[in-house]
Amino acid sequence: MILIGLGSNMTGPWGLPAETLDRAVEEIAKNGAKVLARSSWIETKPYGISDQPGFVNGAIEINTSLRPEELLVMLHEIEIAAGRKRREKWGPRTLDLDIIAYDDVVMEGADNSLNLTLPHNDLHNRSFVLLPVRELNPLWQHPVSGRTVTQMLDELGKN
Ligand code: ADP
Ligand code: MG
Repeated sequence: MILIGLGSNMTGPWGLPAETLDRAVEEIAKNGAKVLARSSWIETKPYGISDQPGFVNGAIEINTSLRPEELLVMLHEIEIAAGRKRREKWGPRTLDLDIIAYDDVVMEGADNSLNLTLPHNDLHNRSFVLLPVRELNPLWQHPVSGRTVTQMLDELGKN
């Protein structure tokens, strides 16, 4: 499965966070990917920096012939179109699009120019990523650890 995580906690040119995620899905579908499934959008507490508005998060499953690096470039272009200005890590943003996993591809950011790590290096710690992924496929397995999304949520104590 190719899984994209979506998040927003600021109103931007595409509207409120949930509206921004809806529009982001449309843009992904218009730019070389087929959207096979989408989770519900959930409201979550901010991660990393707590002094900021809550987030709306979700995940989609896509199919695409774009390579992982090409897909990340496309996602960054959509983030910019949604008014994202890159400031602090974990800080407020109109739109964050992450590649959670690209089938069973494993890569290290240090080895490529885009700094792309697959699967996303912190996914097992983020219930706001795992909950939407579980909705899409509770049996989805992390390609390196072999753990299912359900097991990862159990380990976080969120079930
Ligand atoms: P975060 O999503 O962790 O809050 P950013 O969205 O600012 O942080 O992303 C920082 C960088 O992470 C991006 O420039 C991107 O190159 C890199 N990155 C590494 N792995 C991934 C991934 N799997 N999906 C998206 N971005 C990634
Ligand atoms: Mg990101």
